[in-house]
Amino acid sequence: MAAFIDARTVPSGTVIDADLVLIGGGPVSISMALALANTRLRVVLLESGGMTFEAKTQALYEGPKTGAPYLTLEASRLRYLGGSSNHWGGWCRPLDAIDFEARSWLAYSGWPITKKDIDRYFVKAHSLCEAGTLLYDRAADYAAALGAPVPLASGGVTTRFFQFSKTRDGILPTHFGERYAPELKKVPHLSVYLQANVTRLGLDKSGSKIAEIDVATLNGKKFKVRPKAAVLATGAIESARLLLASNDVRSAGVGNSHDMVGRFFADHPTPRDSATIILFDGRLAPYYGAAQPVNGAIVRAGFFPSEAYRRAHDVMASSVTVDSKAELDDFGRAAVAATANALDVNASHAVAYSLGCGMEITPDPERRFTLDSERDALGMPKAKLHMKIADADFDRLRLTLKELGRQLLAARIGMIKLNQTGRADWLASLDWGNHHMGTARMSADPKTGVVDANLKVHSVANLYVAGSAVFPTYGAANPTVNLLALALRLADHLKGVLK
Ligand SMILES: Cc1cc2nc3c(=O)[nH]c(=O)nc-3n(C[C@H](O)[C@H](O)[C@H](O)COP(=O)(O)OP(=O)(O)OC[C@H]3O[C@@H](n4cnc5c(N)ncnc54)[C@H](O)[C@@H]3O)c2cc1C
Repeated sequence: MAAFIDARTVPSGTVIDADLVLIGGGPVSISMALALANTRLRVVLLESGGMTFEAKTQALYEGPKTGAPYLTLEASRLRYLGGSSNHWGGWCRPLDAIDFEARSWLAYSGWPITKKDIDRYFVKAHSLCEAGTLLYDRAADYAAALGAPVPLASGGVTTRFFQFSKTRDGILPTHFGERYAPELKKVPHLSVYLQANVTRLGLDKSGSKIAEIDVATLNGKKFKVRPKAAVLATGAIESARLLLASNDVRSAGVGNSHDMVGRFFADHPTPRDSATIILFDGRLAPYYGAAQPVNGAIVRAGFFPSEAYRRAHDVMASSVTVDSKAELDDFGRAAVAATANALDVNASHAVAYSLGCGMEITPDPERRFTLDSERDALGMPKAKLHMKIADADFDRLRLTLKELGRQLLAARIGMIKLNQTGRADWLASLDWGNHHMGTARMSADPKTGVVDANLKVHSVANLYVAGSAVFPTYGAANPTVNLLALALRLADHLKGVLK
């Protein structure tokens, strides 16, 4: 029978032996602990928070930022069991094959694995997210009763589907901590320590192996775990912070001999009202504007550039969603009337909708986390962000929006009005997905990344990083179902390594 232990009750100086330590108690560690439940491995899971939000623990996530506007660091993630799944939106979609490929025009692109390497883990990842039957782009077949997809002329943009972790109570996405605590408690050989903050990844003297993990609590207790292997799964920001701050044996930190830890941070920009779509006959199937139950799944449609279009036009991944009805001004109404007249179609029932968007950004080594001089309540240096976003990313999104407009006109069914014209407009409209990625990127060559294709830190024999920290590029798909597929693959790998 597994135990949930309050780390504040563990006497200082205690040393706990384990086969595997899972650092962090978010969706990754919870899924890995469940995936390893039928092994004899002694697993210790160390989670900073408890079962609910506590302000003092959450404050450990505070950190400064410079550069382009970005989210407040402690507000864009949550620090208790279940991690950021305690306030995620539940949007799910697997990455595309092209997202893993090296794109000749995109520096630093290319994963050391292909989508095929993780394909078989999506069914399990999806069921952990409670996101229903895997339909995605087959949803159009089942959604026929709700109306056909927008009949775009052939071209680079097509209708594709998200699914939602929304089956629980029909409303809420899965909160991994609350949802899976009862199952974790049944796992033999698993000990879950709550209120257990990892403050140091302790290398042995050779600097090539993790020998011990330091844990501290907010009531002053300090103890150690000595594992055969460790998985760092504290989210992309905190994983970089822990690697960098563990600098007693290697002065640059753990796994950072090539100065790659913390670099290439990314999120999905989600510009609001990036364009207005006008449909001349006013008809739009309801699954574009809101999530709809369809054949055992909850789905929502968006407009996506096809893989072929992305290959041919050097276009980044993006997803364009229909947000809400929009009012056209006199100028807009005149433009619709003139266009409809030129196309010889009736636009008297035209309806306009505002388009939202989630977009991929260019990998950039200077968009990065370093350590700040200020420290948190446990004495850990805070993580400091320098944020950047390139104009080219907006230009590439405009290409996709223009292609969508071309296809609407070619089909004589509607048109697009682009709403942002320059960097200032874009920045003013910018939200972010809260999808932290890229700070411990996966690479075949140790000089260009932090972990290898098995998620093992290149220069450390028994340390792994799991989560979207390892994504070398980002796609436009929401990360969680993808990072869970990678984590389940890692669990399988560790069964072999630790047996
Ligand atoms: C507002 C919001 C909306 C989102 N919406 C979506 C969405 O719709 N779709 C989607 O795919 N993704 C979404 N995400 C992202 C999603 O929540 C993450 O991808 C997911 O939670 C990552 O899981 P993880 O286990 O890698 O990390 P986390 O969820 O970040 O969990 C990390 C865990 O580590 C613990 N921890 C941190 N530091 C330490 C330490 N030093 N010692 C011990 N433990 C520590 C934390 O308390 C936390 O429990 C959203 C995120 C936010 C914030």
